[in-house]
Amino acid sequence: SESKRTKQTGHWHLMSKQMRILVVEDEEAIRTGLIDVLVFHGYDVDSAATGPDGLEKALTGKFDLILLDIMLPGMDGYEICNRVRTEDRNQPIIMLTAKTSDEEIVQGLKLGADDYVPKPFSIQQLVLRVEAVLRRSGAGQEMARTLCVGGIDIDTENLNGCKDGTEITFTKREIEVLSYLAQNSDRAVSREELLSKVWGYARNLDLETRTVDIHIAKLRRKIETDNKAPELLITVRGAGYRLVVES
Ligand code: CA
Repeated sequence: SESKRTKQTGHWHLMSKQMRILVVEDEEAIRTGLIDVLVFHGYDVDSAATGPDGLEKALTGKFDLILLDIMLPGMDGYEICNRVRTEDRNQPIIMLTAKTSDEEIVQGLKLGADDYVPKPFSIQQLVLRVEAVLRRSGAGQEMARTLCVGGIDIDTENLNGCKDGTEITFTKREIEVLSYLAQNSDRAVSREELLSKVWGYARNLDLETRTVDIHIAKLRRKIETDNKAPELLITVRGAGYRLVVES
């Protein structure tokens, strides 16, 4: 069942634990290109070329990261992302999206992807994002166990909270965003700072910041009474976002 795992490379033996990545991509040239690059960088890579195969591997294998294409035969990447998220809100997922399609990016992030890489991507950009996601997952031990935001007690370990008697669930990444904003609630935090501190990207990387805005929009829908007029997760014009926490 796990027969297609790619062999380990001889170098990079200093890595304490070899990270496992699942690549779900139907275009063979892109798939093999991704596998080659990731194996070269010392990752243990498995792959799938169809939606159903990708879903099965994603749900049964333990992966540190899933790279997920959207248009796939049998089942699309959105459905896979949704199903995987239902099972495991900790699973890091990066969507591979067509550069031109804003809708794809928004939809993927709404369904719980941590980030996206626009196609065609540069190898360097891809590897930097992969490294950032892997560096960040497993981080966050310094987070408070409970966050109090607008009368909602949020359990940062179980990734849930209760608002007006209804349970709200969060992804790991959403909790990391809230925690970082809570720790810095005396000021506005810029998108660039969030990308650097929460997503782990180097500050000088020329990244699109759509990811941050969509995560903020999702959080507002979850915690605000009226997400169009936020009172907790507020925008400070020209500066970024600020979280209003109980003192
Ligand atoms: Ca495809």
